[in-house]
Amino acid sequence: MDYSLVTEVYEKIEGTTKRLEMTDYLVDLLKKTPKEVIDKVVYLTQGKIYPDYVGIELGIAERLALRAVAKVAGRKEEEVEGDLERTGDLGETAQNFLEKRRQVSFFRKPLTVERVYQTLDRMARAVGEGSMDLKVNLLAGLLADATPKEAKYIVRTVTGKLRLGIADMTILDALAIAYGRGKDARDVIERAYNISSDLGKVAKALAEGGLEAIKGFHVSVGNPIRPMLAERLSSPAEILEKLGGRCIAEYKYDGERIQAHKSGGSVILFSRRLENITGQYPDAVELIRDHVRAEDAIIEAECVAVNIDTGEMMPFQELMHRRRKYDIEKAAKEYPVSLFAFDALYIDGKDLTLEPYPVRHKILEEIIEQNDRFQIAKYLIVDNADDLERFFEEAVEAGCEGLVCKSLNNDAVYQAGARGWLWIKYKRDYKSEMTDTVDLVVVGAFYGRGKRAGTYGALLLAAYDHDNDTFETVCKCGSGFTDEDLQNLPKMLDPYRISHKHPRVDSNLEADVFFLPKMVIEVIGAEITLSPIHTCAKDLIRKGSGLAIRFPRFTGRYRTDKSAEDSTRVDEIIEMYKRQLKKIEAE
Ligand code: ATP
Repeated sequence: MDYSLVTEVYEKIEGTTKRLEMTDYLVDLLKKTPKEVIDKVVYLTQGKIYPDYVGIELGIAERLALRAVAKVAGRKEEEVEGDLERTGDLGETAQNFLEKRRQVSFFRKPLTVERVYQTLDRMARAVGEGSMDLKVNLLAGLLADATPKEAKYIVRTVTGKLRLGIADMTILDALAIAYGRGKDARDVIERAYNISSDLGKVAKALAEGGLEAIKGFHVSVGNPIRPMLAERLSSPAEILEKLGGRCIAEYKYDGERIQAHKSGGSVILFSRRLENITGQYPDAVELIRDHVRAEDAIIEAECVAVNIDTGEMMPFQELMHRRRKYDIEKAAKEYPVSLFAFDALYIDGKDLTLEPYPVRHKILEEIIEQNDRFQIAKYLIVDNADDLERFFEEAVEAGCEGLVCKSLNNDAVYQAGARGWLWIKYKRDYKSEMTDTVDLVVVGAFYGRGKRAGTYGALLLAAYDHDNDTFETVCKCGSGFTDEDLQNLPKMLDPYRISHKHPRVDSNLEADVFFLPKMVIEVIGAEITLSPIHTCAKDLIRKGSGLAIRFPRFTGRYRTDKSAEDSTRVDEIIEMYKRQLKKIEAE
């Protein structure tokens, strides 16, 4: 296919301001395109050579492209640069210079789509020593045979500035008009795209086999599925009503969503935006390879950094270390991720995306060999607002953002690529910061694991209830301790160790060790939240709930100057909670 047929359409598209006209031009182009190259035309039209998830990007530095233009035009680079300053678009500059080209080869071979595509592909894949020169030469080779107009679009494409602004949905519309009839066709084509994330593949299947081929489209390992997303409501009652009075509520972990594709011993991880992020999570790859009992599988999970010694979930920011290539190994050791799986989309040849959620969930439970670091997202099947609210508080306190409530109905399929009402998220609408530190009493401790074996992994901390002369728990704190603190803590606490919970301590948690309420330490947290577990201010704000400090951290200060009775009082924590709410309302 002549490349000029494609660039003619680009020109028309650039000249219109109407979406419908743009679609019409695309339809014309797709109809004219032979089926063997339709995938390539689709990629090129979006300024790509592959679907995004492949991770091979076009794009050479403008400086290199400029060199190729100068070379082909027989001009000095400075001259081209001068014109570029005027136009601000190297594509237009290339067109200008090629129009004035001094020598035009006699043997100009008309450019074909195949040749343009192959050359761009070679350019994108060139790496290492000499690759810059190779790229310039390849581009110059193309430009030498290009018409000025073709040169404009080639230069824009390779520098990542094609910018025709053709969205995926516009191409789907055009495909449906060119090859299908009516809205049904559009839906079928869109679904094929949603489960493959590859417009070129969809276009080719459609051109070669018609709608029948598209209907036969299935998910396949290696092709990421566009993620299903959740709607949002702000009260348990509304959520239950929307989901038919009953739903499965799951912790909404605050990490990174991954879609894991396993084929035998090899695993690929895709991000929420379907980028290949396998390299960032060697630890997650291992968990999936070793603990998913299926030869081939596609599952979804939230990846969360966890403090291995205390089992505490870390805030989402902790995963940012995984973005830097050189720190990954270190980060994976320090804070390995845990996986919380929440969906199964494909298992051993069976596409599960059209199965209702209860079926997918059951299969998920069957195929995952759970352990400390790889679990099914914590869930509860609920049919009343109180239980839902309590489960929500529990989730928030555990370090989660809230809940995702999912439909248990028969029509609860996996809606790839859509934000719908089959999943409803329930999060707090605010983020607030705890500004003051608090001084809390150590009333218990939990044994550490891993690096912290032999010491304590976390301390159980309480505030003082002046009226009842009791100590009420507000958090489990395992962060902020230095190695030295950890070594010293058992010794420091030993004099207070007792065999059972002290009668003045009010705790629902069964610690490994209990102490006389004596030692006071300073702690700062992210915020104060309602809690179904902790006893601080129990029933005072909401029936059945207490208050807890979220993401608590030892500041390094042992308050030896304070007695347990001088520690932060329960009524002060209530005050802090209320002030926090006011601050949020004011914002
Ligand atoms: P948000 O910023 O709220 O995460 P989002 O647009 O990324 O929004 P939504 O679909 O609205 O995504 O919310 C669901 C997100 O929550 C998922 O993308 C996923 O990353 C995360 N998540 C955590 N736990 C679960 C779970 N149990 N089930 C589904 N999604 C979960």
